[in-house]
Amino acid sequence: MKLVDTHTHSLFSSDSKMDINAALQYTREAGLHGIVFTEHYDFDVPEGIIAFEFDPAEQQAAVRDIAERYKTDITVLTGIEVGMQPASFDKIHGLLDRHTFDQIIASVHFVDQEDPYHGGYYIGKDAKRAYGRYLETIYNCIRQMKTFDILGHFDYIARYAPYPESMCYADFPDLFDAIFQLLIQHGRTLELNTKTYHIKPDGTPHPDPHIFRRFRELGGEALSFGSDAHKLEHIGIRFDEYAALAKEFGFRYSVYYQDRKPMFLPL
Ligand SMILES: [Zn+2]
Repeated sequence: MKLVDTHTHSLFSSDSKMDINAALQYTREAGLHGIVFTEHYDFDVPEGIIAFEFDPAEQQAAVRDIAERYKTDITVLTGIEVGMQPASFDKIHGLLDRHTFDQIIASVHFVDQEDPYHGGYYIGKDAKRAYGRYLETIYNCIRQMKTFDILGHFDYIARYAPYPESMCYADFPDLFDAIFQLLIQHGRTLELNTKTYHIKPDGTPHPDPHIFRRFRELGGEALSFGSDAHKLEHIGIRFDEYAALAKEFGFRYSVYYQDRKPMFLPL
């Protein structure tokens, strides 16, 4: 089965040191069809957080140059993971107007000016409130975001949460439906971000089948598979397992984007 890792971070992301050449070799040896480098770009980061910015022209030239020298037969593409926040859309749209990408992932990393990664966001919230607020933020943001291809890690908020509960469809059916309808209406893709499911040693959070089945049921044709790798050994990690799950959820295709056009691969 052919799969492209649609969500990876090279040294152009401020929280990664992953070497592009080594990443290409690893991708090939892992038997993947290809890789998309989607570097972090976040405007208006909360106080005390490092800047997540890069020069897209420089990143694209570097990737192109290395891919050409390496003469690889795998698909190598360049993209961006843009962090959405309600107050940042003028800047986001300006950036996306100035540059072209193969693929744009839109993600929410900060909620109400807090970074969940550092834990403060969860204080005084139970799982339902913490997850619900995150999904509301996604919904509000994707309504404003003019152009993107993939909604990144919709359950990111469960990744760093102190609760035993995963994010479940049954807790937020209306929010999930509203988000999925918006995505499907504009031909956008839901990401299966595998990092969320293996970051904690005890196994939680896990992917709720009802979430993915509902996306399929409403007309979502394919999922993108993103490892969110910041290190070599995480590229394409456990993709076979998740592809099998996606088939169980009713999907027949995975998808990646080239020149902003969806490219489907049978699962
Ligand atoms: Zn992200």
